Amino acid sequence: TPVFLLSATDVAHFPPDARTYGAPEIAFLGRSNVGKSSLINSLLGSKQAHTSSTPGRTRAINFFALHEGAGDKMKQKPSLIFADLPGYGYAKISKSISSEWPKFIEPYLADRDALALCICLVDTNIPPQPSDSQLIDYFKQTQRPYLVVGTKSDRLSNNALAKSVAALKREHGVDEILTVSAKTDAGTKALWQRLMSVTE
Ligand code: GDP
Repeated sequence: TPVFLLSATDVAHFPPDARTYGAPEIAFLGRSNVGKSSLINSLLGSKQAHTSSTPGRTRAINFFALHEGAGDKMKQKPSLIFADLPGYGYAKISKSISSEWPKFIEPYLADRDALALCICLVDTNIPPQPSDSQLIDYFKQTQRPYLVVGTKSDRLSNNALAKSVAALKREHGVDEILTVSAKTDAGTKALWQRLMSVTE
């Protein structure tokens, strides 16, 4: 069962990282409307990530703790932390990742010790976006482990999805893209396996 930890709008508000917490962290990033809240809700099996209905959470990093097994969740150490980052916009991301992103996002991505994997969400229903390329390039340059995940796969036929994935791979310069649907849950099991692999 996931537990909503806190909403951070400043570096000082981040929860203690891996050294004290003992749990790896997975960050979810993507343009606004990519389907990030829907995917996180479907992964968590709850509506906790529905940021739009919770004022103040949208421009913050929202942390969730995931606990394995039964028992008193709050006393147990979490096995995984999810960090839901603010969606970036329709404009280009710019030099220092994003001029429109709050200032604490870049320090988070650059310095966060607990950060084990960055999930870069891209919409399979639209052409490859320069802002997504910029973020992926940032992860390549900084050697942060990342995984590109294509959202809303249910909206396309198998053939159209394959074409979209090929274009996304080519434009973003990545070898692998997992596709998921928060609507049908297609691909979420495979994604979970990848997420859990950071705890091994
Ligand atoms: P966010 O801004 O990235 O958090 O995006 P949301 O999760 O709020 O989703 C944006 C829009 O896309 C909403 O209208 C969702 O209903 C829709 N959406 C999200 N995920 C899916 C999906 O897997 N399939 C379909 N068909 N629509 C989706």
